[in-house]
Amino acid sequence: CGVFGVIGVSEAANFTALGLHALQHRGQEAGGIVSYDPELGFNSAHRFGYVRDNFTKQSLMETLPGMLAIGHVRYSTTGAKSPHIRDVQPFFGEFAMGGCAVAHNGNITNAEALRRELIERGSIFQSGSDSECIIHLMARSIQSNIPERMKDALRRVEGAFSVIAMTRTKLIGVRDPLGVRPLVIGKLGDGAFALSSETCGLDIIGAEFLREVEPGEMVVISKGRIESARPFAPRNARFCIFEHVYFSRPDSIIGGRSVYETRRQIGVELAREAPVEADLVCPVPDSGTPAAIGYAQESGIPYGMGIIRNQYVGRTFIEPTEQIRNMGVRLKLNVNRSLIAGKRVVLVDDSVVRGTTSLKIKDMVLDAGAREVHFRIASPPTAWPCFYGVDTPHRDKLLAARMTPEEMRDWMGVDSLAFVSLDGLYRAAGEAGGRKNSCPQYCDACFSGDYPVAPYDQVERGFEM
Ligand code: 5GP
Ligand code: SF4
Ligand code: MG
Repeated sequence: CGVFGVIGVSEAANFTALGLHALQHRGQEAGGIVSYDPELGFNSAHRFGYVRDNFTKQSLMETLPGMLAIGHVRYSTTGAKSPHIRDVQPFFGEFAMGGCAVAHNGNITNAEALRRELIERGSIFQSGSDSECIIHLMARSIQSNIPERMKDALRRVEGAFSVIAMTRTKLIGVRDPLGVRPLVIGKLGDGAFALSSETCGLDIIGAEFLREVEPGEMVVISKGRIESARPFAPRNARFCIFEHVYFSRPDSIIGGRSVYETRRQIGVELAREAPVEADLVCPVPDSGTPAAIGYAQESGIPYGMGIIRNQYVGRTFIEPTEQIRNMGVRLKLNVNRSLIAGKRVVLVDDSVVRGTTSLKIKDMVLDAGAREVHFRIASPPTAWPCFYGVDTPHRDKLLAARMTPEEMRDWMGVDSLAFVSLDGLYRAAGEAGGRKNSCPQYCDACFSGDYPVAPYDQVERGFEM
């Protein structure tokens, strides 16, 4: 998911819509905005579909007045995929000291246990979302102001959370102690500030990137000032390395590094680790493009767009059902026959999850007359599900959980297949010495099975780590 908020500008909801539009790649199912105006109070709108199709309509935006707003773009990772508008964030709660809206990116790993406990004690849940726990935990806190209630609530929550919240006068941002999901602060001139999942959300509104909200930090912004607090016991940060590989936008800056540059560098590592004699390096667009550029630069093999992407289709894996997802590859990608025919082709993609994409692309490229097909993957084999907010399927659907790379190569029917090593990935992400196994610098659980937070609900249900 993507979260965005702004304080201190007129038409805050319009700024929020722009920010969410820049974060659309983080969630394409639905979006919501809550705004506050001293005369008209809190107002909200939640809609299915793209930001640009909903939050551009003047008739809707006029219902969201005020100088303070937050918003959310949704990509469902937990529970049933059946879409309910009541699952769309931000969530809103009215407390004795005033209202509060909350938007969450990540996944709460003890949400089911918390929900059971809260319902037993009288909470009335409105949605099926793990994030709703936060509002109910806040409601039960005995603290006398909202930031303190939020601290109480988030101390009970486990897993990954980058949270943006707003009261009548404050914009609040919090990251979990591991800092699994990103969150950044921007300045918009005279006392106006923005919070965004990624820096690309600041760029679109012309805000200056100040800094990241740090892992385990809470910032409270009001009256043109930022106050910082540390509500949690300190831990070593474990940012999601898959944000670098796939999830974030390449024009965003994370941990002081350009995401594009990290991806290009993964391609360089791949060319060193898994060279091959070939005539053409092709990205699987768009997610494989920067790594393909790096592979071509390092290997000296010419780069070309052998696969063309239809720009009017979103991210394949966000399509809800298997059948549509299978079609999705063809709806989205097509081969550029004249470039590929007769050539030995290196195809570079960001990840292999179920293997559906790679299989279809291999067929398309061979149909177009390629002489050889070599897959190079810009992440290690995805062998474990993510419980921290990225929608990887169950283990039995993950190709790498069932097959070795050699078996995957034969199953795909390609001439060669290679994944970047975990150390190569860390080097590309700026860790010259690779992964520190005693104290890893990132979360890489979907590749390593090393879960930095035990996924409580899953373990209770019998998941074996
Ligand atoms: P596959 O077809 O192997 O399931 O998916 C691999 C391709 O789709 C990659 O190009 C990647 O960009 C994207 N992708 C598809 N499904 C998922 C998913 O469930 N999780 C993630 N992380 N990426 C996916
Ligand atoms: Fe990111 Fe993978 Fe960790 Fe999930 S398991 S947070 S996708 S690195
Ligand atoms: Mg892709």
